[in-house]
Amino acid sequence: ATPMSVMVGVGKAAEAGVLIRNGAALQTAAKITAMILDKTGTITQGAPRVTDILASEGFEQDQVLRLAATLESGSEHPLALAILDSARESGLEPGKVSHFDAITGQGVQAEVEGKTLLLGNERLMRDRGIALEGAVERGQGLAAEAKTPIYFAVDQKLAAIIAVADPIKADSVAAIRRLQQSGIRVVMLTGDNRATAQAVARQAGITEYFAEVMPEDKSAKVQELQGQGEIVGMTGDGINDAPALAMANVGFAIGTGTDVAIESSDVTLMRGSLHGLADAIAVSRATLRNIK
Ligand code: ADP
Ligand code: MG
Repeated sequence: ATPMSVMVGVGKAAEAGVLIRNGAALQTAAKITAMILDKTGTITQGAPRVTDILASEGFEQDQVLRLAATLESGSEHPLALAILDSARESGLEPGKVSHFDAITGQGVQAEVEGKTLLLGNERLMRDRGIALEGAVERGQGLAAEAKTPIYFAVDQKLAAIIAVADPIKADSVAAIRRLQQSGIRVVMLTGDNRATAQAVARQAGITEYFAEVMPEDKSAKVQELQGQGEIVGMTGDGINDAPALAMANVGFAIGTGTDVAIESSDVTLMRGSLHGLADAIAVSRATLRNIK
């Protein structure tokens, strides 16, 4: 394509709220054969909310929620914000935290009021030797409803399962269908558990997904598809996504996402909608078709 036609294409995309950083990205976008989509905040709204608190025998819902919120006051993870919001809405004041520690891709731990608290996924509980008994089945039941089960242990004993839901964006299904109809292989990528990932993927109309991917392994998934001969687009919003966005042939950031994701990307979707992906690819293909 001529420099002039590329400029026109970049301008057209901008009118649709799609900011393309450079002409090379516009030209590569036409050749994308596979698109990896992060789940949380990319396919979903990214504003998770607590829906269920299943307290174990000997624990009260409010007590569990207040302790969990106290623990999460040290975290900026979207799941932490959901738990803090829920506590606030119930009028619960978080207490004081000490020895706070985030376990990347798994959860958080701290000392609160002389108790040792641990909050996170099933794997974290298993790693720390927390007895789960029937809890895993209950967690799986929540996951089948596309909710994320978070396990909460107090002094090495399972105190509750807290379920968090993060609905998909209203137009994600239609936008994903447009990508698929233009011949692109769409793959979902998430750190979330397999059962929740499967339920969300199904809602989104995606058959292929990678679940339980640790943040540092997201870019390896991009390379894996590139190794299969795919020209890979990656779309994400989080700090965790930045290396994968940089590794992809074209990185797309959600405009409402983190600065790091935007800086690591070639394209920014200002409207936050995944329709921007199909728009960008359509403009790119038209640009290359018209002027060869
Ligand atoms: P994602 O944001 O795609 O779910 P992460 O790698 O950030 O991926 O987290 C993976 C999983 O680790 C979460 O689904 C959750 O189960 C657990 N986790 C991580 N951070 C926290 C936290 N602050 N509170 C509770 N659970 C957490
Ligand atoms: Mg995300």
